[in-house]
Amino acid sequence: MDDDVRLGRIAGVAVGASWSLLVILALITWILGTEVLPVAAPDAHPAAYWAAAAVTAIAFLACLLAHELAHSVVARGRGIEVEGITLWMFGGMSRLKGEAPDARTEERMALAGPLASLALGAAMTVLAVLLAGAHAPDVLAAAIAWLGLMNGMLAVFNLIPLPPLDGSKILIGLLPPAQAVSYARLQPYGVLILLLLAFTNLLSIFLITPIRWLVAQATGTGFF
Ligand SMILES: [Zn+2]
Repeated sequence: MDDDVRLGRIAGVAVGASWSLLVILALITWILGTEVLPVAAPDAHPAAYWAAAAVTAIAFLACLLAHELAHSVVARGRGIEVEGITLWMFGGMSRLKGEAPDARTEERMALAGPLASLALGAAMTVLAVLLAGAHAPDVLAAAIAWLGLMNGMLAVFNLIPLPPLDGSKILIGLLPPAQAVSYARLQPYGVLILLLLAFTNLLSIFLITPIRWLVAQATGTGFF
């Protein structure tokens, strides 16, 4: 995918965006401004919801970029040239020139993204707790807690060991070569299995609900 807009270079990696990113930016702002924030922090001014929603949506895209940048920075560290990162409707996409020389390198590159999301998720959750404790406006604490929740979900979702998710590359790096080859045969069915998990609500039961519970317990604010 080519960039429609060039956003600049971060850590030596060219970052661009597709126009389709505006769709997701508008959608996230809408959901936050009309549902998430008014429910989590009632009694604020409508303008406060919209302002917080717009800033939080942009911050979320920055978190997606951080996940993708982590992949790219590790790739560059291993001598693989990175053409750039494109942000679009379904997240970020790194364009690498060349392949990882072995499964171990691929595994390290894959692990970097979820680790970055996990670190961001933990940091945002702690920040939300501190803000709530310091009696900061509820809207602000709720927005930061939501970012913590989303980064946590991003990390755990990407760790599911199904192709094309990061977790599958990590698993292939960990498996003995013969098993790794057998496992790689799953490749064409990964998306199908993921869709099946989503439609049968299993993803929600085993992934979304526990993380939501964890963030609610950690922040102790009952935001979500
Ligand atoms: Zn990733």
